[in-house]
Amino acid sequence: MNKNKIKKKFKVIIEPDECKGCERCVNACPKSVLKMSAKLNFMGLPYAYYTGDGCIGCSACFYNCPEPGAVTIVEITEED
Ligand code: SF4
Ligand code: SF4
Repeated sequence: MNKNKIKKKFKVIIEPDECKGCERCVNACPKSVLKMSAKLNFMGLPYAYYTGDGCIGCSACFYNCPEPGAVTIVEITEED
């Protein structure tokens, strides 16, 4: 039997071209791991991005985003 501990980790993928730059996800995130890009998407709007570490998978960004398809939360399962 595998005795390694399974630790759940999460990451967030934000589609730049689906994002309208409202910053709701950035403001809603309790871990402050989302930021606004200095670059612009195809609509000429800044977009939110995941800084790459510290997401706890709470889904606040997903539920606060008014754009369907902009935010995807992905669960990563890693063995210790
Ligand atoms: S799932 Fe929660 S912790 Fe992760 S980026 Fe979204 S709001 Fe932040
Ligand atoms: S809440 Fe949605 S539309 Fe607004 S900045 Fe975040 S990803 Fe973009």
